[in-house]
Amino acid sequence: MTESHSRVAIVTGAGQGIGAAVARKLAADGFAVALLDLNEANVKQGAEAIVSGGGKAIGVGLDVSDTEQVEAAVTRVAEELGAPTVLINNAGITRDNLIFKMTDQDWDAVLGVHLRGSFLMTRATQKYMTQQKWGRIVNLSSTSALGNRGQVNYSAAKAGMQGFTKTLAIELGKFGVTANAIAPGFIATDMTAATAERLGVSFDDFKAAAAKEIPVQRVGTPDDIANTVSFLVSEGAGFVSGQVIYVAGGPKD
Ligand code: NAP
Repeated sequence: MTESHSRVAIVTGAGQGIGAAVARKLAADGFAVALLDLNEANVKQGAEAIVSGGGKAIGVGLDVSDTEQVEAAVTRVAEELGAPTVLINNAGITRDNLIFKMTDQDWDAVLGVHLRGSFLMTRATQKYMTQQKWGRIVNLSSTSALGNRGQVNYSAAKAGMQGFTKTLAIELGKFGVTANAIAPGFIATDMTAATAERLGVSFDDFKAAAAKEIPVQRVGTPDDIANTVSFLVSEGAGFVSGQVIYVAGGPKD
């Protein structure tokens, strides 16, 4: 039995990619895990896999940018698994375009999932953390927060996640709650595969070109992020708060 045996973690966007890897890792660490995603079938499957491996998990379908769905999902997690005291705000989308071609819908959709979604999920979950006088929040930012061509919406959202994180750390610290952001570089998932497709290059060529520019000479994997999350939500990370950790195979500033 591990230190986190009785703790309940929520991972948004856990249907695939980074979120799915984070959910598997937290289950392996001993957390009961609620996998939340737009794609209900995927998270039900992911939860079943954790349960058949001896863990505790449920899969819940929701849109993180919808207040009522968020409130209902968090209440359901508390009823079925117990008070959620770990929250990983990972759900995300891209709607890339140069600014002169970007539509209002592309702007609103990206800000809505990343920023409004993280705000709604955190507001709904923090009460369980403050009651328990313990909590861990990890928000997914990105190296795109530093600026990336074709991503004014996404980079604004990911920079916003950093300010959101630091403010949560300040407000919730006295309740034993830490908040940190992980800013991944290139991670091989459907999201980066879609970018390759949009640019008209094969995913293998896209990854190989990216790897050449990364000091450790490879692209990242969802497990690279899951391992960092695992540390940040651990008991031992209680004095690490308000930080942005670039997990990008090299330095970023
Ligand atoms: P992904 O493979 O596209 O997975 C994102 C997941 O979020 C999908 O399962 C998606 O569901 C879900 N989702 C989207 N909108 C949602 C909503 N409104 N409510 C609930 N769930 C929603 O992406 P990923 O690469 O794993 O990325 C995970 C996070 O890391 C994102 O925040 C992303 O911005 C960030 N990130 C990724 C990279 C990278 O290189 N991959 C780099 C930096 C940061 P559907 O499939 O049903 O839409």
